[in-house]
Amino acid sequence: MKDECGICGRVLSVAYMRKCQRCRKLFCRDCMVPDVATGDPNAMLCLHCARRVVSPRTVSKYDGLERHLKFRAAFTDTVKLSFARIDGLIGSNLPTGAFRDTAWWSNTSSGAHAKAWLNAGWEVQEANLKEGYVVFKKVFNVPFKKSRQRKLEINKPFTPVPVHMPRSKVPSKTKVSKLYARIKNLERQRAAARRQIRGFKAKPRH
Ligand SMILES: [Zn+2]
Ligand SMILES: [Zn+2]
Repeated sequence: MKDECGICGRVLSVAYMRKCQRCRKLFCRDCMVPDVATGDPNAMLCLHCARRVVSPRTVSKYDGLERHLKFRAAFTDTVKLSFARIDGLIGSNLPTGAFRDTAWWSNTSSGAHAKAWLNAGWEVQEANLKEGYVVFKKVFNVPFKKSRQRKLEINKPFTPVPVHMPRSKVPSKTKVSKLYARIKNLERQRAAARRQIRGFKAKPRH
């Protein structure tokens, strides 16, 4: 029995393939890593799933496809992409539905995948499941935004963190008034004590 690895695309004997713990699909052992979370060296994760475990997705799975189509829009209005190429663009495996059902490629679908090409201003013109490719046709132009990496580029000059200056020697007004009140209190206490002593002395001894 032979099967195709969903990552590297090689057709290998099933004996050389393992089932991913997460997506339950078969991959060759070269495209898998042990699932460290389980502590079981036989529990394997495919590289796609391993990446997802390490850095969970914060954007749409099909963000890469959307960006690619927006980028291509500047040069062409027809783009033919193989399913494998789309896998590469999205950094993941297309779901089985994409391989089995042309409805998956429908422009009226409400799924995140259709949103990706529609947001980019493209529509699916042809989905060839037999040969594994899809043809997109540009409907309108969407301004292509720079990728996130570009935005992260440092373009400001280095500004050192301000040095923390030692506190001024002059105490604050609150501190002064508190101290002053304390001195006044002490003086009052002392005066009272003196009065008491005097009182004692003043008392005639019997
Ligand atoms: Zn592989
Ligand atoms: Zn997997």
